[in-house]
Amino acid sequence: MLQVPKLLPSTAAFLAKPGQMLIGGQWRNAASHETLPSFDPATGQPIGSFPAGAAEDANEAVAAARRAFPAWKRFSPHERGRMLNRIAALIEKYEDELAELITLENGKPLWEARKEVATAVSWTEYYAGWTTKLTGETIPMSIPGQFLNYTTREPLGVVAGITPPNYPLTMVLYKAIPAIATGNTIVIKPSEDTSLVALRLGEIICEAEIPDGVFNIVTGLGETVGATLANHHDVDKITFTGSTEVGRLLVHASAGNLKKVSLELGGKSPNIVFADADLEAALKGVFFGIFFCQGEICSAGSRLFVERSIYEEFVARVSDMARSVKLGHGLDEQTKMGPLVSRGQQQRVLNYIRIGTQENAKPVAGGIAPDGELADGFFVQPTVFSGVNNSMRIAQEEIFGPVVCAIPFDDLPDAIAKGNDSPFGLAAGVWTRDVRKAHQMAAALDAGTVWVNCFNAFDNASPWGGFKLSGWGREKGPYGLDLFTQVKSVIVNYS
Ligand code: NAD
Repeated sequence: MLQVPKLLPSTAAFLAKPGQMLIGGQWRNAASHETLPSFDPATGQPIGSFPAGAAEDANEAVAAARRAFPAWKRFSPHERGRMLNRIAALIEKYEDELAELITLENGKPLWEARKEVATAVSWTEYYAGWTTKLTGETIPMSIPGQFLNYTTREPLGVVAGITPPNYPLTMVLYKAIPAIATGNTIVIKPSEDTSLVALRLGEIICEAEIPDGVFNIVTGLGETVGATLANHHDVDKITFTGSTEVGRLLVHASAGNLKKVSLELGGKSPNIVFADADLEAALKGVFFGIFFCQGEICSAGSRLFVERSIYEEFVARVSDMARSVKLGHGLDEQTKMGPLVSRGQQQRVLNYIRIGTQENAKPVAGGIAPDGELADGFFVQPTVFSGVNNSMRIAQEEIFGPVVCAIPFDDLPDAIAKGNDSPFGLAAGVWTRDVRKAHQMAAALDAGTVWVNCFNAFDNASPWGGFKLSGWGREKGPYGLDLFTQVKSVIVNYS
């Protein structure tokens, strides 16, 4: 079995105590006292445990968030901003420990985990800045008389945030920080695959002295805790990142009290390489576009379209790069790619590889789980399929792993048609030196984000969200504030 490098004493101490959830400022076990294990996906071994929350726990957390809401709403914007900056400073202080814990529970290499922690800090600071800049408008009125019409933006109330495991720290903060910056209180249900990172973040938020009940965490399964929050009549808003399948369930569940819903869902992003592109840059962009974070990124460039004249050579070079990737424990400095986050996700990816082979696509790199000392972990070799056509299941369904489908195209209209032939519309990449082609593609692609001569370039200020089955709403930047506020229009007759 793979050797795990020695952990920091603080990480070891954190893992040694059974995890508890945070409800109304109190650390608690599940009402049932049941727990769930968390695993190191590189070894398949348990590393700790957390409460298996259920409906009763979720209900208590919603009640605590409701109790905290009126006072939190009245905190001055400046005070809220200062508190968020305290959270950011503490995340930075515990950077090494948080990065290690992310790698240990999620599997991604340590350098990627460090980038995640850096984003967590800058994200929190970004929305701390917005607390004092949330303004309304004055509206000119045309009805007879003398009227003043102005608007204010008010928080929604109690928010529930349900998150996936691929960015265990930032996903929780993507929900919690803009929600509490705008005066809401929140209950987080983190992924059952990465709940320990969320609980460590809870400790940090307590250390920042955020008032009790403003930020709560209930760990447990989606079907129990997640479904209770989605159906709850005292939850005003669901903010969700995860699969399209669960997103649909949440839309149904929210109908009872018509809670607001925003959804960041799956993707099958095209990465489109024209023959006139800077091919060295495109090669790197394609490689990182699919293999970064083990391919467990919603925006992963999992459909690679290459202009026919350079298809064979380009795919051969991507395959060579894929074969040279060093898999291993994310805490080992030599590791370039870690394991998938869970046994279930590994099996799902391997099943798609089998489906692709049955569909007569050809795995020209990877296509298997490695053996030897990696056999107990949840690894999959970086995989490149050629001979794919866009109607195959592996080209249409989200795999969420290190698998790319390479497909040739003939010209610009063909690239647009194939790129858009997908139920998803999260992101797309275009590689070309021709500025006209770049803009024509950007205008024609059905995607929430189009990257030109880059891929997976994100910024806290840049809107993020999907077309089609990839979601509802836009997170990040000022758009993110709209997800957690409602506009009140005040009309004063002063005649
Ligand atoms: P998932 O939908 O299975 O789970 C996500 C969360 O939903 C987990 O916390 C889970 O416990 C919870 N959940 C599961 N069933 C539920 C139910 N019935 N009711 C309420 N909650 C429930 O997704 P996953 O496999 O954890 O994550 C991968 C998916 O997330 C992929 O589809 C990926 O594209 C998507 N994702 C999207 C973005 C984006 O920004 N668009 C970012 C990251 C991941």
